[in-house]
Amino acid sequence: MSHQPDRAQPDDPSQSPPSQREPALPDTTPPSNDLRSLFECPVCFEYILPPILQCQHGHLVCNSCRQNLASCPTCRGPLGSIRNVAMEKVANSVMFPCKYASSGCGLTLPPAQKADHEESCDFRPYCCPCPGILCQWEGTLDAVLPHLMDQHDSITVLQGETTIFLAMNINVHGTFYWVMMQSCFGLHFMVVLQKQENHLGQERFCAILQLLGTAQQAENFTYRLELKGHRRQLTWEATPRSIREGIETAMMNSDCLAFDTDTAQLFAKNGDLSITVTIAQC
Ligand SMILES: [Zn+2]
Ligand SMILES: [Zn+2]
Ligand SMILES: [Zn+2]
Ligand SMILES: [Zn+2]
Repeated sequence: MSHQPDRAQPDDPSQSPPSQREPALPDTTPPSNDLRSLFECPVCFEYILPPILQCQHGHLVCNSCRQNLASCPTCRGPLGSIRNVAMEKVANSVMFPCKYASSGCGLTLPPAQKADHEESCDFRPYCCPCPGILCQWEGTLDAVLPHLMDQHDSITVLQGETTIFLAMNINVHGTFYWVMMQSCFGLHFMVVLQKQENHLGQERFCAILQLLGTAQQAENFTYRLELKGHRRQLTWEATPRSIREGIETAMMNSDCLAFDTDTAQLFAKNGDLSITVTIAQC
C-alpha cells in the first residue's frame, strides 16, 4: 500500500494536465482486479475511494476508518492530510464492486456512483425487525425468520389469514412491546403492539403490521386490525410496511391503529387485549 509521497500533488485534479499513463504502472493495462487490490483499506478491507489522503510515508486508509484513527495504521506516524491525486485518478478509472457483492449484487460502479447505489441496493442487509430490543443482527431477507425463531424465541407464530393477537397484561407501565408472527400466502408478517408514553406523559398504544419482505411485495397486501367489544368496534386498514422501511416512523406519525389507554380499557378483558388480524391479497 506504499506510495511515493513526493509524487503526491495537492492541486485540484481538474487543473491537472490530461491524464497520462502513470509511469509506475505496467505498460499493458492490468486487469481491474489487480488495480482494485491497490485500493483495499488495511483496516476494514473496504475500498479506499476519493478523496484519497495519505500519511507522510504514503500509506492509505479509507475515509471512514480514518475518522476513528489517531495515527497511520501502517507506520503509526501522524495521519496527515496529504491528498494523493494520482491514486484518485487511478481510482476513477476503475470499476468497483458494490459492497453487497457477497450478498448477490453483481454491479460494479465507478467510485462517484458507488455510495448512491449502495444506499438503495436491493442486496443491502436487513436489520432485525424486532422492536424495542437493541439487536444488532443484520442479514439477508431469507435469514430474518430463522434469526427471529433462534434469537427471539418467545415470539408466537400463528398460521392463517385471520388470527387473534392476544396481548397479555396491557396495564404494565412504561414502554412495552407485544409481538406476534403471522404466516399466510407463503409469507411471514410481524404484528406489533407498542405501548409508549408521548411527550405529554400520556400513555398510548400503536398496533401495526410489517412484512418480512420487500416494499414491493408489501404493496400486494392489505391488512385489517380490529378491536371488538360489546357494542363497539375499532378498525384500522392499511398496506403492510416492509421491514426494510421499518415501523418507527409510522408509529410516531400515528400511521397505524393508535388508541389511548381509556380506549384500550373499553376492549380489554382482565387486562388482556385481543386484536383480530386479517391479511388479504389485493
Ligand atoms: Zn477502512
Ligand atoms: Zn503511514
Ligand atoms: Zn448493489
Ligand atoms: Zn434480532
